[in-house]
Amino acid sequence: MGRTKVVGSAGRYGARYGASLRKRIRIIEEKMREPHRCPRCFTPGKLKRVSIGIWKCKKCGFTFAGGAWIPRTTMGKTFEIEEKRV
Ligand SMILES: [Zn+2]
Repeated sequence: MGRTKVVGSAGRYGARYGASLRKRIRIIEEKMREPHRCPRCFTPGKLKRVSIGIWKCKKCGFTFAGGAWIPRTTMGKTFEIEEKRV
């Protein structure tokens, strides 16, 4: 039990990834809980899930395809940054 404490919610990934990577996953997951930003006007908290995988910004009306529950652009950008640091 003590081992999973260090990486928090990322503990479910087990030993497949390094400890430092699992810590990064936890940081990413914490970011995911923040209001999602529109990829066009960057307004946070205005994205509405129209249907599974379809997101619409209530501010600028921008509609785009993303993840089922999380706008993929937000995650994709995060992972892109993280990969460059590896
Ligand atoms: Zn927008």
